[in-house]
Amino acid sequence: MKNAAIVLAGGSGRRMHSNVKKQYLIIGDKPVLYYSLEAFQSSSLIDEIILVCSREDIEQCREEIVVRYGFTKVKKIVAGGKERHDSVFEGLKALEDCAYVMIHDGARPFIDEEMLERIWSQLPSVRACTVGMPVKDTIKLSDTLGFVEKTLPRERLWNIQTPQAFAYDLIRRAHELRAEGLLEAQITDDAMLIEYTEQIPVKLIEGSYENIKITTPEDLLYAELIWRQRREKTVKSR
Ligand code: C5P
Repeated sequence: MKNAAIVLAGGSGRRMHSNVKKQYLIIGDKPVLYYSLEAFQSSSLIDEIILVCSREDIEQCREEIVVRYGFTKVKKIVAGGKERHDSVFEGLKALEDCAYVMIHDGARPFIDEEMLERIWSQLPSVRACTVGMPVKDTIKLSDTLGFVEKTLPRERLWNIQTPQAFAYDLIRRAHELRAEGLLEAQITDDAMLIEYTEQIPVKLIEGSYENIKITTPEDLLYAELIWRQRREKTVKSR
């Protein structure tokens, strides 16, 4: 049985207001999508990668990213669906003989091997986990009229990131239940699907404040800064 990563790049990136979809925009000298694929490609924890992108981008993804940068662990490039969870489900269906799967937004370029190891050190025992970071701001819940209903206890709040990692059979079953229309909640991530279907606790694991999702143009400026700092660190450590 192998361990796999599903890398999602099937979104339209409307909030970026750019002709180029955000996963193909350049940070440093490479496309956003390159960085997370590179992290999984060079990790000994991952045997196989499934890349999910829009049907019309499959050939471009294959030639300009997978072949060009030599991502030999990418075994399949599959067409995504309308919503993020549809794309995840397509990725899950493309996997066979899989023990554990990490599901990752291709729009988050700054994952690293230490983070993957932190996930892996817990995954076999907890079977469902996600990276995230404690929130820095005070978070308030609003009522329907836009007034504060209550202030949530900050010391227990986390911003959730990806990768989210699961025993394959567990997350596959949860997605099948969702696809059958058996869940009423608006599902916004895979960890939430486990909360709603499997009744097992999802373990929170420290990610990194640099593990940002590229969504709007400001994110790209910050990403460029993170990239430059990381490159300087690598040059110094040589
Ligand atoms: O839109 P959002 O930023 O939440 O997307 C998170 C990730 O999911 C992105 O990497 C995006 O490409 C991917 N996605 C997808 N299929 C969709 C919608 C989003 O693969 N239908």
